[in-house]
Amino acid sequence: MQNLRIPGPTPCPDEVLKSMSRQMINHRGPEFAQILNDVTAKLKQLFQTKNDVFLLTASGTGGLEAAIVNTLSPGDKVLSVSIGAFGERFATIAQQFGAEVIPLRFEWGQASDVDAIRQALKQEPEVKAVLVTHNETSTGVTNDLAKISSVTKEFDKLLLVDAISSLGSIELPVDDWQCDITVTGSQKGWMVPPGLAMVAISDEAWQANAKAKMPRFYWDFAKARSYLEKEQTPWTPAVSIVFALSVSLDMMLKEGLANVIARHARVAKMTRQGIKALGLAIFAEESHASNTVTSIAASDGLDTKKLLKILREEHQIVLGGGQQKLSGKIFRIGHLGWVTEEDIERVLEALAIVLPQAGFGGEKLK
Ligand SMILES: *Cc1c(COP(=O)(O)O)cnc(C)c1O
Repeated sequence: MQNLRIPGPTPCPDEVLKSMSRQMINHRGPEFAQILNDVTAKLKQLFQTKNDVFLLTASGTGGLEAAIVNTLSPGDKVLSVSIGAFGERFATIAQQFGAEVIPLRFEWGQASDVDAIRQALKQEPEVKAVLVTHNETSTGVTNDLAKISSVTKEFDKLLLVDAISSLGSIELPVDDWQCDITVTGSQKGWMVPPGLAMVAISDEAWQANAKAKMPRFYWDFAKARSYLEKEQTPWTPAVSIVFALSVSLDMMLKEGLANVIARHARVAKMTRQGIKALGLAIFAEESHASNTVTSIAASDGLDTKKLLKILREEHQIVLGGGQQKLSGKIFRIGHLGWVTEEDIERVLEALAIVLPQAGFGGEKLK
């Protein structure tokens, strides 16, 4: 079996895969209503929220678009706190729908600086919302969301959070941290195939929703709410993925959220230690290195494309490359969802063999 270690899609346990071979059911019938209620209640537990939680049939990006169009109007100012490719994507969505985006960019590999956010909010009193990526998958950095939230709330702004690669894997108590919209995606830490975005909406976000004028139809949260009252979704949902999610949520609750989070922390620490023991360096600022994805700097002659190719072809291990300006400069190991220490041990063992074959150590030889 392939050892798929990219930051999404992630491998699915057998029970999850089996649940999807079920026959279709009426998505407006009593059987689906029960599953939907059950899944929604379990998601609320794992989101640590009492707010509304909706399933959207989309990849994570659909959830990000929903967050924007449901809370903002064209011309609204938003502060985009960006530390990598996904932060840029969130800002681009806002801009495409007519928001006036004020960019606050940090060097890729670094976390955002909370004082700089405070400064930006002081300078721009008209800002309506702050956009932030909790865990920047492109660089392997986790932002200090609790602190970012407290600054955002000091200035009484909406906080829209891309938690696609963190929620369910890294601590994120949605209500305690006052996140107004929180978005995640089924194929990341949830051990489920791609196809669902899950979003939480606070009371403040609902107040913004009532006034928000950006165009929306498929993503309309007001429709999602009125249908959920009837135990339905407005549009045909990805029924099979809902079956899968129902099983994976049971598995997560059985393990316990605190244990799931601790497992991710343990596996991530082991990954970082193993990488350093191989003579490589972590690309991310280490104090904020992610517990779901480790980014590794290419150094000392390492050809990352060759590395990924040999790992895939000769060791059945699939790792991620660098995105955009990090292409060829880093590679990434995903360790979220269904992952244990043994999965990473296999990766580290293979790396020890393949690194020299991919040029690593070559600089010294010259
Ligand atoms: C994966 C990811 C996305 C994009 O999600 P899709 O499901 O590919 O649309 C956005 N933000 C972050 C942080 C991600 O990890």
